[in-house]
Amino acid sequence: MDLAIVGAGTMGAGVARVAITRGLAVTLYDAVPAALERGAQRVYEALGRGMRRGRLSAAEHDAALACLFTARNLDDLAAAPFVLEAAPEDLAIKREVFARLSEVCAPGAVLASNTSSISITAIAAGAAHPGRVAGMHFFNPVPAMSLVEVIAGHLTDEATVAAVMAMARRLGKTPVRAKDTPGFIVNRVARPFYGEALRILAEGTDAATVDRVMRAAGFKMGPFELMDLIGIDVNFAVTRSVYEAFFGEPRYRPHPIQAQMVAAGALGRKTGRGFYSYDDASHAQGESHAPGEGHAPGEGHAPGEGQSKGDGDAQR
Ligand code: NAD
Repeated sequence: MDLAIVGAGTMGAGVARVAITRGLAVTLYDAVPAALERGAQRVYEALGRGMRRGRLSAAEHDAALACLFTARNLDDLAAAPFVLEAAPEDLAIKREVFARLSEVCAPGAVLASNTSSISITAIAAGAAHPGRVAGMHFFNPVPAMSLVEVIAGHLTDEATVAAVMAMARRLGKTPVRAKDTPGFIVNRVARPFYGEALRILAEGTDAATVDRVMRAAGFKMGPFELMDLIGIDVNFAVTRSVYEAFFGEPRYRPHPIQAQMVAAGALGRKTGRGFYSYDDASHAQGESHAPGEGHAPGEGHAPGEGQSKGDGDAQR
C-alpha cells in the first residue's frame, strides 16, 4: 500500500482516481459502508469513461483498477506509510480520525489532512505524533486541478512537509506551502467571492446572471456553479470555520441561504440539486465541469429552484 485515503466522498474518490492512474496502490476507507461503495463506484465509472473517450488505454485502465483497494475497517490501514484524511470539514471528526490513525498506523507514517480551512495545529493535537501531521489541500475536481497547498502545523516536522511535497509531485500536482492560518491562501481569498455573491442573490439578482457575468469578467467559474461543484454543505462548513477562527469577523459571515439549502438537502451536484439542478449522469464526481470548461447556464433561477445542468460538455 502506497497511500490510504480516509473518506471516500468527492475529494477522497478524486485523489484515489488520480493516484491509481499514476500507479500508486491505494486503499480507500470510509466510515459509512454505502459511501465507500459509492466512492469506489465513482472511481470505476470515471476510469471507464476515460477509456471510452480515449484518455487512457484498456491496459492503463486495467492497471489503474488493479491498484484500488477498499477497507471497511480503519485497522486495515495499519501498513499505510502515508494517509490522506478527507473526512467532513469538522474539527471533532478530524481529531477523532487522527487519534484513531495514531493507534493504528506506524509512528513514522505521514498523516495528512485535506482540510480546506481548519487549523492543522488543532487537528494534529488529536494525534500521538503531531510532528507527522500536515495539511495537504487538494482542489476540486482533483484530476483537473494541479495546485496542492501544503501546510505545516505548529509541531509539524520538516521531514513530514518534505514527504507531503514529494507525494503531491508523485501525483502530478504542484505543491505550494501555505501558513497554518484559517482558510490558508485560496479559501481565505475565496470567502468574499461566495459571500458577496450570496448577498447579491438575496438582493434579487439570479444566480445564473451572477455566474455568467463573473465568467465574462474572466473567472473560470461563477460562484454559484462553483458552490454546487464543491458541495453547499462543504462550502458552508468552510465559511463557518473561517468565520469562527477569526472570532466572528463580519467579512466572513456565512449567509442564511447556505444554512437553508443544507437543511433542505440541496447540496449541489452530489445530490442533483443546488443552485442548479442536474440530470443523473452529471452526478459523477470528478468528471464534472472543470473550471473554465463549464457552459453558460440560462437565467432566472432562485436557490433551490434549479435549472437543468447536464454534463454533456463535461471534462473536455
Ligand atoms: P464529502 O462529504 O463528499 O465526503 C466526506 C466523506 O467522509 C463521506 O463519504 C463520509 O461518509 C465520510 N466520513 C464521515 N465521517 C467519517 C469518519 N469519521 N471517518 C472516515 N470517513 C468519514 O466531503 P468532501 O467534499 O470530499 O470533503 C472532504 C474534505 O476535503 C473536507 O475537509 C473538505 O473541506 C475538503 N475539501 C473539499 C473540497 C470540495 O470542493 N468538496 C475541496 C478541497 C478540500
